[in-house]
Formats: sequence, structure tokens, C-alpha cells
Amino acid sequence: MLSEKDINGIGMTSRRTRERLVNRLRDKGIHNEQVLDAIRNTPRHLFVDEAIASRAYEDTPLPIGHGQTISQPYIVARMTELLLGDRPPVRVLEVGTGCGYQSAILSQLVDRVFTVERIQALLQQARKRFRQLRLYNIQARHTDGGWGWEQHAPFEGIIVTAAPERIPQALLEQLDVGGRLVIPVGAQGGAQTLCVIHRTPSGFEREDHEAVSFVPLLGGTG
Ligand code: SAH
Repeated sequence: MLSEKDINGIGMTSRRTRERLVNRLRDKGIHNEQVLDAIRNTPRHLFVDEAIASRAYEDTPLPIGHGQTISQPYIVARMTELLLGDRPPVRVLEVGTGCGYQSAILSQLVDRVFTVERIQALLQQARKRFRQLRLYNIQARHTDGGWGWEQHAPFEGIIVTAAPERIPQALLEQLDVGGRLVIPVGAQGGAQTLCVIHRTPSGFEREDHEAVSFVPLLGGTG
């Protein structure tokens, strides 16, 4: 288990440093106080390699190995805010666990988090962190997330943290009526758009937000 000191951090990983990050996100337009609280309470420095832990509270993506990155805090906050909307989902599917940071944020804001990752080594590390931080409402699975997680569907919320060129059909099908899917869509190297898809009783409605840059959503498992 981690000690309070590990979790609270010191110097560049301390509460004070985190507060600066929260203020920065607020300046950039994040208004949901619950989301800001979750960012404040989550030890991002424990989700990256010790060698770069001192940079964990900068508003920047960082490498996590296997050619992948931990998303920029602003993007995590923004996507979470869009996912919560005016009626927070109860059960959420996340595609692209990576180091598990986004899952850890979600676990404080919704009842249950189901997260899937195609790279086994990353998933194992993420699971270990969830146990260490006692985030027991997260269930993680090694699979190609383009297929969703049928067994637990439908979800009131789905969040995808890697970019496909087109939205996988399975994810649309596993979205509950009244639910929302937050996903970056677009070609690699080109502009991707952060989209929110609402499932209504009669179909799907798409809302486009800012331009973003994500690693690609790949097929199969690694
Ligand atoms: N949510 C992470 C972001 C990780 S980067 C965070 O909090 O920082 C995106 C992740 O998506 C990578 O780990 C990558 O391996 C994973 N990924 C890409 N394609 C995938 C797929 N088809 N199924 C599941 N995971 C996928």
C-alpha cells in the first residue's frame, strides 16, 4: 500500500503544486468544481515514471512507454466535463486505459468505471495503481476497445481516449438512450475534432467541440 506521504507528494508533486494546476485549468475554462476537485485529489505523479514525476503537474501530456502518452490534464478535465454534462452518468466505459489516470478521475465522479486497454503491460500497471489507491469501483479488461464491452452494456457514458477515423459502430450500439459518447474523431496527423454524440430515442446527435491531438485508436491487442 502507498503511504499518505507517497500520495500527497512533496516539492514538485505537493498539494501546492497541484493547486497551481487546478487554477490553470480554471483559467483555461474548466468550470465544473467536481472535476477540479478530482484533479486536485488525484496524485498524477504516481501515474508516470519516477524520472518524470516532477513534471506531473504541468499541463502537458507525458510519455508512459509503449509509444503512448498520459493525456494533458486540460484534455482530461475537458472530456470529463463534457461526459458529465448536466446529468452525470452512473456507469461509464472508457476505451484506452493507458496509465489509468483518466479512470482514476472518473472513479471519483461516477458509480462504476469499466475501462479497456489493448496493451497488456499498460493494463497491468494501471490495475496495480487502482489497487494501491483503493479505487475499487474500476473494472479493467485487456481487449480491443473498438468492440466496447458488451457484457456490461449499455453505458450512460462512454469516453474514448484514442482517435479513430470513424466512430466504431459497437460503441454507438452500447450507448444507452439518453447517454453520451465523448470521442476524438479524425485522421492521424490531420485535425481531429473532440465530439460528443448524444443518443436520443430516435437516433444520434453529434456536437463538435475543439480540435485535439490524440494517439490513434488501433485495432487488435498488443
Ligand atoms: N486514458 C489515458 C490515455 C492513454 S493514451 C490517460 O488517462 O492518460 C490512449 C490509450 O489508448 C493507449 O494506452 C493505447 O494503447 C490505447 N488504445 C489505442 N487503441 C485502442 C483500442 N482499440 N482498444 C483499447 N485501447 C486502445
